[in-house]
Amino acid sequence: MKKLLTKNWLLPAAAVLILVVLLSLASYIWFARGKNSTGEVFRYDNNGEIIELPEWILSKPISINKYSRPGEKTGKITGVVIHYVANSGSTAEQNRQYFDGLKKTHATYASSNFIIGLDGEIIECVPMGEVAYASNTRNHDTISVECCHPDETGKFTDATYESLVKLCRWLLDVYDLEVDAVIRHYDITGKICPKYFVEHEDEWREFLAELIK
Ligand SMILES: [Zn+2]
Repeated sequence: MKKLLTKNWLLPAAAVLILVVLLSLASYIWFARGKNSTGEVFRYDNNGEIIELPEWILSKPISINKYSRPGEKTGKITGVVIHYVANSGSTAEQNRQYFDGLKKTHATYASSNFIIGLDGEIIECVPMGEVAYASNTRNHDTISVECCHPDETGKFTDATYESLVKLCRWLLDVYDLEVDAVIRHYDITGKICPKYFVEHEDEWREFLAELIK
């Protein structure tokens, strides 16, 4: 009698177990679709060619996580969006760590493809071919560039400014874009970002003119 009971119980249990395994597998495949589950770095130009990073860009991709690096490929790149970090005196590395730390803090959804530091150092934080969370409705078709700044005015140091010019010129070349493709976060949402270039329209125009030279 005992033996029979055990047998009767075994078959449904095995069926449930198999069902659970199959459902887990199906949901894993479902959620992994179009996602970067291998940690591969996506970095392609608009013709699908692999982009070689120049040696003056330090690539330090943050971990793939849903708060700052979803691992999604971008669409065709049609613009470059300039930001300021809005955290006076913070370094490029500190801002990178903040974005990376969102995987644990879950504080918000935020990141940037590039961060330019106070000394002009350029860090690639989210690979160029992947979506970063910086520019709202334009995350999928633009490259985002965050700039550090020493104080509340939001004005960049000369070193940051020079690196920004250099990076933007290179990006326009890589994606075969005209200067008017370089925009401010402000131009998308009206947010006062990058502060100094929003409050000093003349300086913004001068910066754009610099990109043509
Ligand atoms: Zn911004």
